[in-house]
Amino acid sequence: MAAEQAFVTLTTNDSYARGAMVLGKSLRNHKTSKKLVVLIGPHVSNQTRAVLHKIFDEVRVVDVLNSGDTATLTMMKRPDLGVTFTTLHCWTLTHYSKSVFMDADKLVVSNIDELFDREELSATPDPGWPDCFNSGLFVFCPSNETYSKLLKYCKEHGSFDGGDQGVLNGFFSDWTTADINKHLPFIYNMSSIAIYTYLPAFKQFGANAKVVHFLGEMKPWSYTYNLTQGRLRGDVQASSQPGFLLQWWALYSAEVLPALI
Ligand code: UDP
Ligand code: MN
Repeated sequence: MAAEQAFVTLTTNDSYARGAMVLGKSLRNHKTSKKLVVLIGPHVSNQTRAVLHKIFDEVRVVDVLNSGDTATLTMMKRPDLGVTFTTLHCWTLTHYSKSVFMDADKLVVSNIDELFDREELSATPDPGWPDCFNSGLFVFCPSNETYSKLLKYCKEHGSFDGGDQGVLNGFFSDWTTADINKHLPFIYNMSSIAIYTYLPAFKQFGANAKVVHFLGEMKPWSYTYNLTQGRLRGDVQASSQPGFLLQWWALYSAEVLPALI
């Protein structure tokens, strides 16, 4: 059995790649002992790929439409599920015994290697519907068998929300009640939604966050940053997470931007 373990993220374009770069750097800065893998779509530019290679141990192109019969056929039958199939591809990384998938729009602010003590499928509750897990971070065990079953599930049931979160919650539907150890604390996937929905809890526990998730339409890279002043331009209040947003930009401008120019 494969002995190594890895953090895995995904980007299908050059914008999300900026997020992946910061995520990778933030994992390294907090001294992870795990491998770092980024799955990329065929449209990611060569310049971006070169920078990703500097940060990640493995940069793997996933082109679901050219990825073997089952995936291609499933894709043909469910063209609506787009990026979802790319995410599911992480189960094919069978040279790792266990992995943690993370969205590219995340910033790690503390070492989180302890997540590898958890079993498949561990994840945090979704802030919108806590009986579902949020698929922005999950612990899983790569397996071709599970991958085939997931594709079969996709073909037969689709996704109730049109994305990977719907598919994964359908497939791992016993997450809600079967084993409390598979419910990860919210600090591993903290999003600013908590500011609107439960401000006292955010004030009480927000500082303990280990991973910040910039969930929603506005991503850190959607803002403009003034390099000399170290400030964000425009309506930053809308983000409700100005502190973490500034941390994201500080890391991006100090450690990623120099490699991009
Ligand atoms: N993603 C991508 N390209 C896209 C959209 C999404 O690579 O055009 C990947 C990326 O890793 C992203 C994840 O899919 O973090 C989930 O999307 P997003 O974070 O935008 O969803 P949200 O967390 O806001 O619901
Ligand atoms: Mn996200």
